[in-house]
Amino acid sequence: MNAGDLEAQSVFFCKTCKVQLKDSNAWYDHINGKKHNQMLGMSMVVERVSVDRVKEKLAGLKRQKMMEASAVTNAHTIEEIQRRIEEKEKEEEERQRSKKRKMMEQDHVHSKLQEEELEFDEEDITAFGLPMDFGSSKKK
Ligand SMILES: [Zn+2]
Repeated sequence: MNAGDLEAQSVFFCKTCKVQLKDSNAWYDHINGKKHNQMLGMSMVVERVSVDRVKEKLAGLKRQKMMEASAVTNAHTIEEIQRRIEEKEKEEEERQRSKKRKMMEQDHVHSKLQEEELEFDEEDITAFGLPMDFGSSKKK
């Protein structure tokens, strides 16, 4: 065994299957063979499928939530939706504050509805995975 043999052996080693091929013909047969491609394919396909499925699922959910949110607010970006919901919440907060006494006295049903509206918006935001810094307005 000389240096040339050692060099050739390292060249014809398949890292994927961890097998040593004896020459270029064996190497070529191996990398075009079923076993090698299964080894190669399995690690790649499994990874790709699971990642793609998760992405697909997330994209689907996100798209659905975005459509719902944009339908509510007529906004087209998450930033815009977030801003509008924020604005709306501030608006509602102001309105509730200024009308609080009146509502406490005679408009319990309306007050209840507004609370439920705010809660719905927050759930939408949660679904986006966005921070809920402004969601604390609901707490009293
Ligand atoms: Zn191989």
